[in-house]
Amino acid sequence: MFSSNARNLMRSSLINRCKSTLVVAEHNNGALNPITLNTISAAKKIGGDVTVLVAGTKCGPASEAVAKVEGVAKVLVAENAAFNGFTPEAITPLVLAAQSQFKFTHILAGATAFGKNVLPRVASKLDVSPISEIIDVKSEDTFVRTIYAGNAILTLRSKDPVKVITVRGTNFAPVAATGGSGAIEQAPAGDYASQLSEFVSQELTKSDRPELTSAKVIISGGRGLKSGDNFKLLYDLADKFGAAVGASRAAVDAGYVPNDLQIGQTGKIVAPELYIAVGISGAIQHLAGMKDSKTIVAINKDPEAPIFQVADIGLVADLFKAVPELTEKL
Ligand SMILES: Cc1cc2nc3c(=O)[nH]c(=O)nc-3n(C[C@H](O)[C@H](O)[C@H](O)COP(=O)(O)OP(=O)(O)OC[C@H]3O[C@@H](n4cnc5c(N)ncnc54)[C@H](O)[C@@H]3O)c2cc1C
Repeated sequence: MFSSNARNLMRSSLINRCKSTLVVAEHNNGALNPITLNTISAAKKIGGDVTVLVAGTKCGPASEAVAKVEGVAKVLVAENAAFNGFTPEAITPLVLAAQSQFKFTHILAGATAFGKNVLPRVASKLDVSPISEIIDVKSEDTFVRTIYAGNAILTLRSKDPVKVITVRGTNFAPVAATGGSGAIEQAPAGDYASQLSEFVSQELTKSDRPELTSAKVIISGGRGLKSGDNFKLLYDLADKFGAAVGASRAAVDAGYVPNDLQIGQTGKIVAPELYIAVGISGAIQHLAGMKDSKTIVAINKDPEAPIFQVADIGLVADLFKAVPELTEKL
């Protein structure tokens, strides 16, 4: 007779053996996007084997990088012209082919434009509910996510046979990029070219600054800046910190800066060490994207601005005076 402890141990090791996660890597046919490391971290928290799928037109650099990542057992590589532009119509049948061969219990990707584009399509083809942008893993079937623009935290238990999940990168520390020795294998072959969509072109904002979602310091500007030219004040300050520059939706809508700088519910979610909000009122949709930052500094001339409720340090001042002064003092 087994004691109940021994039985529990056996049961949990049986479950552990059965669990296996597929992480869909994100890369640009050159470098691996860092959010893949945060997503692998979430996969490790679920437990079980971690396999990473690298699909693209040039997979060498990303698949080699992934193979070295701590905790990755296997890398499936699918290099094919069909994946030009990473369209979900082409990537989905590949994920389904990998799923039907390996029978993963979990399929994960980062909650980026790429992950949010591909995974709900995969979930619908598997006839399961997608689970969006988790911030924590409680167990193999129980996950935590935010709702109502980050104003409530929801814990959900999924009864689906396959859990299809996007992961909020800022809530999972990245796994070490070295120390692993995953086996590189070919992903299941197939005719993945889509008749439904074709990638035509892209326009990328060129910047020498750190990428917003992984920056340690972010200086963010809102409607209070009054023009795109005035953002120069923020760039000068950002140079002192080696910081990234972000913006509110009002600043984007007014055409001051491109929309890939937008932080918030409908923009990027960030959680840097230091977030400096300049001329931003602090609408809930903006706070949804930055309130997990370690230290928040607000510069606003309105002492009643809601941003001061989340700020650790607040300065009630005219930004056109305060920001150049700050830049000069640093
Ligand atoms: C569905 C939905 C989704 C949304 N998603 C987002 C999102 O992802 N991100 C986002 O940011 N917003 C989002 N919004 C918009 C959001 O509701 C606000 O309208 C927006 O965040 C306001 O931007 P702001 O703070 O720059 O502008 P305002 O609210 O106009 O605030 C400007 C601030 O600048 C201050 N100011 C003005 N002049 C000076 C000066 N000289 N010195 C110092 N301070 C000054 C003012 O006191 C004011 O507080 C969304 C809205 C909806 C409805």
